[in-house]
Amino acid sequence: MHQRSAHRSLLVIGSVALDDIDGPAGMQRDLLGGSASFIARVASYFTKKVSVVAVIGDDFPQTHVDELTQLGVDTSAISRVPGETFHWVGKYSDDLTSRETLDTRLGVFGEWQPKVPEAQRDAQLVLLGNIDPVIQLDVLKQMRAPALVALDTMNLWINIKRPELLATLAKVHTLMINDEEARLLAQEHNLHKAATAILKHGPSSLIIKRGDAGALLFHEGGAFAAPAMPLADVKDPTGAGDSFAGGLMGYLAYAGDLSPKTIRTAMIMGSVMGSFAVEKFSVDGIRDLTNAKIQKRFDDLAELTHFERITI
Ligand code: AMP
Repeated sequence: MHQRSAHRSLLVIGSVALDDIDGPAGMQRDLLGGSASFIARVASYFTKKVSVVAVIGDDFPQTHVDELTQLGVDTSAISRVPGETFHWVGKYSDDLTSRETLDTRLGVFGEWQPKVPEAQRDAQLVLLGNIDPVIQLDVLKQMRAPALVALDTMNLWINIKRPELLATLAKVHTLMINDEEARLLAQEHNLHKAATAILKHGPSSLIIKRGDAGALLFHEGGAFAAPAMPLADVKDPTGAGDSFAGGLMGYLAYAGDLSPKTIRTAMIMGSVMGSFAVEKFSVDGIRDLTNAKIQKRFDDLAELTHFERITI
């Protein structure tokens, strides 16, 4: 990406985790995971003004943090405290289309009270990555006047912290969740109706991620659909949603405006970055990407969906 001086700054809060993932390829242990790990890495392709607020335990390899720093991400607010790093254990179905959480160990997140450094409180874009909604709100309250606040969450928080999640939701502009979570949150199967119900809770836009069926945006301007890239080889869907979010918010930071046209392009960029994430385990699919590779996939997606209007 050409580095533009008008880039907006992006603050990311989320989990930095170690994941154990069981699937068709067998069990893989202690993989780098966590919402913030995927988001920050992806966003760093678009802007060098990304900062992360997170907590890690004393078992977390420093090399993972150093790698983010080398990508230009401000990691000064990733604090290391005594205890176990957030640990997630998930199991995928053989066709990789569904997953269940086998274990979530909050570890150092249990006691954590996030503190946004003074220099980062002016960030213009804020991405509240999937994490306890109480922590998300705590961080949001420390921000001065962000132009856009987006929030991601998951079924665990919808189930165990619904009132807290709704309180946080009332303060954000954009909610990004997957279709299963949208249905659970709205208690409505039809996604259009679910979107209408969810938008009544405060956000002005809702993005529903649908895995290999793409993503939908609902806002006052109507709806927009971003397709997913059809891929021959999918290894590990973990982090696809976070990479989508990182691509979307990273592109918005890069573009420097929030017009409906830019938001549509950002949805496509989200889909592009999510597609890279699933091709390999952990963050490997989004490691070492080049502008040329990102551009090529963006162009392929444009080609895939291009059609002419006709009059009948
Ligand atoms: P995604 O596949 O985009 O939904 O994100 C998967 C990542 O979310 C994994 O790397 C996990 O470490 C992380 N994760 C799973 N459950 C939670 C949770 N309850 N809170 C925060 N992060 C989580």
